[in-house]
Amino acid sequence: MRGRCECGRVQYRSEGKVEYFSHCHCSQCRRVHGAAFATFVSVPREGFTYLSGESDLRTYASSDHQNRLFCGVCGSSLLVEAAREPDLIHLALGTVEEVPELPDAFHIFVGSKAAWHRFHDDAPQYDTYPD
Ligand SMILES: [Zn+2]
Ligand SMILES: [Zn+2]
Repeated sequence: MRGRCECGRVQYRSEGKVEYFSHCHCSQCRRVHGAAFATFVSVPREGFTYLSGESDLRTYASSDHQNRLFCGVCGSSLLVEAAREPDLIHLALGTVEEVPELPDAFHIFVGSKAAWHRFHDDAPQYDTYPD
């Protein structure tokens, strides 16, 4: 699986299995992605490599346990690193070029979802993280 930012400077490859496929409705994802929610695939850190553009990456610590990496040129949100799952990287699925077969999706942080958003699927919903 390969992905890239909008301007193409930052490119990456991920070789591990997709562990989770989630839609996050927290207010940070809403603002950072400028959208109702952000969609991620969680993959093993050890199978992840940057192919180019690492020097263009910028890191925003959205909390003391979470970093958000984005392209400093085009602003694309690329991935999230969370201290609670140090062995995983959460890739913004919109930056993935060829999407493989995915596990069933679920919604997280539904407790802080945008009031103006309506769900259009039957995927499981969790107030914060799944139990
Ligand atoms: Zn870019
Ligand atoms: Zn979020």
